[in-house]
Amino acid sequence: MDNVYAYIQDHTERAIGLLERLCSQPSISAHGVGLEEMANLTAAAMREYGLDAALLPVEGGPPLVYAEAAGRSPHTLLFYNHYDVQPADPLDEWTSPPFEPSRREGKLFARGVSDNKGDLAVRLEAIAALREVSGELPLSIKFVVEGEEESGSPHFPAAVGAYKDKLAADVCLSEGTGIGPDRTPSLVLGVKGMLYVELSAQSAKVDAHSAYATVVPSAAWRLVGALNSLKEADGRVAIAGFYDAVRSLTPQEKQALAAMPDTSEALREALGLEAFLDGLTGYDWQERLLGAPTCNICGLEAGYTGPGLKTVLPARARAKVDFRLVPDQRPQEVLAQLRAHLDRNGFSDIEIHPIADHERPVRTPVDDPWVQAAALATEQFYGTPPEIAINSAGTAPMDVLVDEVTSSLLFAPGGAGYEGSRIHAPDEHIRISDLVDAIRVTARLLLEFGRMGS
Ligand SMILES: [Zn+2]
Repeated sequence: MDNVYAYIQDHTERAIGLLERLCSQPSISAHGVGLEEMANLTAAAMREYGLDAALLPVEGGPPLVYAEAAGRSPHTLLFYNHYDVQPADPLDEWTSPPFEPSRREGKLFARGVSDNKGDLAVRLEAIAALREVSGELPLSIKFVVEGEEESGSPHFPAAVGAYKDKLAADVCLSEGTGIGPDRTPSLVLGVKGMLYVELSAQSAKVDAHSAYATVVPSAAWRLVGALNSLKEADGRVAIAGFYDAVRSLTPQEKQALAAMPDTSEALREALGLEAFLDGLTGYDWQERLLGAPTCNICGLEAGYTGPGLKTVLPARARAKVDFRLVPDQRPQEVLAQLRAHLDRNGFSDIEIHPIADHERPVRTPVDDPWVQAAALATEQFYGTPPEIAINSAGTAPMDVLVDEVTSSLLFAPGGAGYEGSRIHAPDEHIRISDLVDAIRVTARLLLEFGRMGS
């Protein structure tokens, strides 16, 4: 292992050079800028690093970059990455131009340098190190690199379905996790799912003078009533059947939650809250945050909210509502339960418009052998056991990979960034010392994965 670590240290400049090349090409999915060019550049870089790479056409979207390389063990690892980035605005808040990588004070600044081009460079460098030091890869490797992650991956599920035989793998590593404060490494074993809907009420053809409020129904009151019916006074979701499919946490999952560092105080202070809902703290806070589903009003719109007064009775009202789901809830089932709930409570006039694709929750078990191998490799590298999140509180389109391609999916160390990397914001950057460690721990993970079943 020391030879591999030394090789990685000696090739730091090559790694930085690769990352600078990747970050010099704008690839903004929200604006459709530079995606074909970036896909080609990514495939070319992968070929330089000894992988067989090709672009896979995607109906309606930019291509996937696919690559593979054979290794010693009979198992195959699939790396998921994305080659698109967030828009760079506001441009005047960047110290150096976002698509001209700039090195200063031991850091590298550029849009995408952490999210997610850094992870891709890390993985290619780890592969090069293992091959050049030991002559072979410990296991076979595939890559799927998409070009629309920052825009919600609208075409990814269908594309994975179309190429599922090509992508098939024993385990999938999604984007790498960055290093936490105090150098704490982490494994994240899945994501919450998502159902996103717009609810709308229409009470009349046109708005009316508010003098008619005694006799004309209001869309605003209708919608407020419908929204209010979605939750009990104690905050639980009131939709019949909503919790039926929620899988109880296993003893190992509860143990993992209990071992996580308590970040609740820092968040409470950052948000300026007196207290969290129900006075949650410690383990209960952690379990609610990661283990419970949500029903959240993202936005509300009706009538007049401008300056001064306008006495109007709104004919239309709408709200955006998101449900973050946990295993084994299914977005389509929750959608049907929501419709039934509104109908049963006298709100059959409220329309439900699903927005975008629904995502199912994913949670790989703590005792999954690939998770155990990743935890072991991480602990060996950092000298401390990783914190294990049973899933992220957020959502990503990982369900299709678990359905079609692999049974074990996780986020493991090997991200180039840290908590201060300012991803999605001006002056996105990584620390160059973290880049070297990320390559090393990725090599360590690959070696441990290569030992599986042997
Ligand atoms: Zn991102």
